[in-house]
Amino acid sequence: MSKILPIITHPNPILRKKSEDVNLEEIKSPEFQELLLDMETTMLKEDGVGLAAPQIGKNIRAISIYAEGKKLFLINPVITKKSWKKSWDEEGCLSVPNIFGQVERYKKINLIYFNEKGEKQKLITSNFLARVIQHEIDHLDGILFIDKAKNLKKLNY
Ligand code: ZN
Repeated sequence: MSKILPIITHPNPILRKKSEDVNLEEIKSPEFQELLLDMETTMLKEDGVGLAAPQIGKNIRAISIYAEGKKLFLINPVITKKSWKKSWDEEGCLSVPNIFGQVERYKKINLIYFNEKGEKQKLITSNFLARVIQHEIDHLDGILFIDKAKNLKKLNY
């Protein structure tokens, strides 16, 4: 049974550290597989479209995504190509609750990463999924969307 993990919020310094690559030999270990499933469960429970490992307190390069009907785990992702076209759209973050703002991202990216089986994958993606992936990879480098956003607004409930 997978668990819901506590989400770390800004300004916790864990969110500002550059995360380390996952050791490829560890991907198939039961502990790492459990961590991935826990990240996915946590993301789905919180209605997120993506969750990066630093957000649950681990400075390793692992991401869970659920966007446009695609569930993906990205391990050690690297963007290999960026479109010159960029676009602005609204973003929020589970680690920066109730804050939203406009962020500029590349429209299309090429990516290499390892999946949950430790297999090397290539992905070319655009628009919303490309935006989510860029947001999550920023987390692995200690960058939050509020660093790049304009027109930040706070929603009060
Ligand atoms: Zn985020």
